[in-house]
Amino acid sequence: MAKHWSLPAVDALRSDGLRIADLDTSGTPGFDGAKAEGLACLAERATVLSGLQEKLYANGRSGDKRSVLLVLQGMDTAGKGGIVRHVIGSVDPQGVDHAAFGVPTEKEKHHHFLWRIRKELPGGGQLGVFDRSHYEDVLVVRVHDLVPPEVWQPRYDEINAFEKELVDEGTTLVKVAMFVSLDEQKKRLSERLERPDKYWKFNPSDIDERAFWPAYQQAYQVMLDRTSTEYAPWHVIPADRKWFARLAVTELLIAALETLELDWPAATFDIEEQKRRLAEV
Ligand code: ADP
Repeated sequence: MAKHWSLPAVDALRSDGLRIADLDTSGTPGFDGAKAEGLACLAERATVLSGLQEKLYANGRSGDKRSVLLVLQGMDTAGKGGIVRHVIGSVDPQGVDHAAFGVPTEKEKHHHFLWRIRKELPGGGQLGVFDRSHYEDVLVVRVHDLVPPEVWQPRYDEINAFEKELVDEGTTLVKVAMFVSLDEQKKRLSERLERPDKYWKFNPSDIDERAFWPAYQQAYQVMLDRTSTEYAPWHVIPADRKWFARLAVTELLIAALETLELDWPAATFDIEEQKRRLAEV
């Protein structure tokens, strides 16, 4: 097991039976160290992640159809962008397929909610990253009544069937829901108003959304209860401590990549013959 973890992250962070209302968003479940140890582990484990991702990419180049898809969900300021920048930023960008999902365009609205999602699925050998995802269609959509209940209700089952299909086709899903406290969100939003280098992240509607916090908590709870499956489980990350959230996602990705038991692709040529040829020129 990775250093300082009393339980593997995949077990410590499993959403099963978890009540979001009881979650300590400043906690570090499964990890016994403090920030200094966390940062040291993160540096060490980022190298491991990078090595595994390179193997995934190499295998993809050799025809392996398998992929890994990280699904990131969380309220504004939960730190999704930090995961992309700091965790995904530590691997080879050639093998990363990143997609962010904002308010659907008019064209997207005319299609089934999974239409735009399917177009962004990672190919063989890719590490896909969804910054928000199909889950917005049972979160913001439910909270703001953007479609009637008879439209969003069946989506939980549709999502489960869709994800089963992905898993059967060789995609390993790593679903991560990040949670900060209402106070921590206020702190992060006020930082965005204080620092010129953060104004670009600020959206006035983020303040309006704070009034809907309980409704979002409820929508997230139902999402976890209805769509955490054996084949695509949810992991819940307390995210008040950014270093922990980043370390936790790094560990979840390492665990997912390790289940693929990747090796370097074998040479498709006669090595000795090629060495001889090279020596001659
Ligand atoms: P972010 O806030 O993550 O930096 P954007 O500002 O581009 O990114 O867009 C995110 C917004 O899009 C969020 O408010 C989110 O709730 C909204 N959104 C995402 N998917 C949907 C959807 N299917 N229906 C309505 N709104 C959505």
